[in-house]
Amino acid sequence: MTTITFLGTGGGRFATIYQPRNTGGIYITNEWRIHLDPGPGALVNLSRASIDPGKTDAILISHCHPDHYTDAEILIEGMARGGFRKRGILIGSESVLQGSGNFGPAISSYHLGLPEKIKVMSKGSSANVIGLSIEATPTRHSDPTGIGFKLHTRDDTISYVGDSELGPDIIEAHKGSRVLIICLTRPIGSRIPYHMCTEDAAILVEKTLPEVAILTHFGMKLLHEGAEKQSAYIEKQSGVRTIAATDLMTVNLGKTMRFRDRTRTENRA
Ligand SMILES: [Zn+2]
Ligand SMILES: [Zn+2]
Repeated sequence: MTTITFLGTGGGRFATIYQPRNTGGIYITNEWRIHLDPGPGALVNLSRASIDPGKTDAILISHCHPDHYTDAEILIEGMARGGFRKRGILIGSESVLQGSGNFGPAISSYHLGLPEKIKVMSKGSSANVIGLSIEATPTRHSDPTGIGFKLHTRDDTISYVGDSELGPDIIEAHKGSRVLIICLTRPIGSRIPYHMCTEDAAILVEKTLPEVAILTHFGMKLLHEGAEKQSAYIEKQSGVRTIAATDLMTVNLGKTMRFRDRTRTENRA
């Protein structure tokens, strides 16, 4: 069974700088372990979630913005057992791994030498690694080589839209997923270029029809307005169950999905 852990649910410049929510990406486990977009705080929040970074099999980095990559080097060292064993797979956009225009590379040449395998992905490319198929999806973002990911596991398809505004190619790329994870930076009435806002996320969910849509990567303004207000709007517009992720929330993808929201458990206690 696949389990998804949201290490951090903040994103964008100011929510990352001031940390009203954690940042640090998403950890997905099955018979394999993937760390997706290990931004600032990824290492600390792995520890909070009692996840061992030494067991990670693959690190995936969607694009070259600091909220998505800053903890990558130490986590590559973790994956490679302190750098003493060539181990693990590092997948990233061209900007992250090779540098492109003003962006990157985000990883030092020393750290690029530690994983067993390095793979640069661009939209439309795919890779079969560690027992699953990873598809790179298009994004419309300020890093032109940025990508999203669609993970085809044995039982499920999980989409991670990444940082992007909406477009027909984005909708097409994420059809057929059981879980659609959206980086939702902007709340209702606040559309800006290159980022997803709530109204556009509702269109994306309505047109792709996942079993559940999970929102994360909340920007500062959105957090002021309330993340749950955004999920309620999207659920009402699309008719699809929509969850605003909370820090360290886990989702188990069994026959039925089970959500564990630590903030609510703590609130109840
Ligand atoms: Zn971001
Ligand atoms: Zn970005």
